[in-house]
Amino acid sequence: MERLMRLLEPRSRLGIVVRVLFFTVLLALANILFATIAGPLLPGKPLLYQIAKAVFIGAPFLWFFFVVMLYQVRLQRHLSHLSRKDWLTGLNNRRTFFDLAGKRNKEHKAGILLMLDADNFKQINDTHGHHAGDTCLKAIAYMLNRNLREEDVIGRIGGEEFAILLANSSPEQARVISERLIRPIPFRAGPAHLTVTLSIGAVVTSPDTPLEALFIHADRALYQAKSEGRARMIFAQQPMVPDQMRLAV
Ligand code: GH3
Ligand code: MG
Ligand code: MG
Repeated sequence: MERLMRLLEPRSRLGIVVRVLFFTVLLALANILFATIAGPLLPGKPLLYQIAKAVFIGAPFLWFFFVVMLYQVRLQRHLSHLSRKDWLTGLNNRRTFFDLAGKRNKEHKAGILLMLDADNFKQINDTHGHHAGDTCLKAIAYMLNRNLREEDVIGRIGGEEFAILLANSSPEQARVISERLIRPIPFRAGPAHLTVTLSIGAVVTSPDTPLEALFIHADRALYQAKSEGRARMIFAQQPMVPDQMRLAV
């Protein structure tokens, strides 16, 4: 099917003209062939002749048209999936995460933004190879998906960095969830059974604070989690809302 579609795909204006001419000639030939065969068989039966013509000439063309349309719809869906998802882990990619989380942030009153980073990930790549690193990233994504709810937004926002927006959650709930997320995550690199941990920076969201500003706070908290020994979650100081910022200047 793909080869046929590639054959049909015009690459220039001349290509379009050639294809239109080709199908016109094909249609004309089909009409001539039908008239030659069905004309003598159905003399004096114009209605039957027209019905038979519609079935034998119109139906294959219509069938072909719908097959092409179906292929295009599937391709469109596939491309849309590729543009929204991270190819390795299947999580939302950075742009989709920011889109979805930005919308959720405005909708929900209480939420927590978590920024997660795999600990000593470079060492996994260096010691066991890039493929092991990829397997590790997939294991992290699987664990995140298992531990979060439908309404939470998850994304892979960088190489070994992930972000989660916990919708309608309190800091206490975020701590309970984070306790689960910082446990060693098992994965395999060939015969070796390895584990990886995550460090997490967290911040309480507010519809008044843009997501980008929340990320700066979460990133600082993540940096603190790294410097305090990794495999832990640190809460950022509550960010200032715009009114407070104005008063502070
Ligand atoms: P830290 O605990 O401080 O976060 O250290 P780290 O080693 O995890 O962080 P660092 O920034 O030094 O290394 C991140 C590495 O992640 C470097 C880069 O080659 C690797 N990386 C980024 N994207 C991918 C990927 O898609 N697959 C694999 N296998 N490695 C990746
Ligand atoms: Mg990193
Ligand atoms: Mg890291």
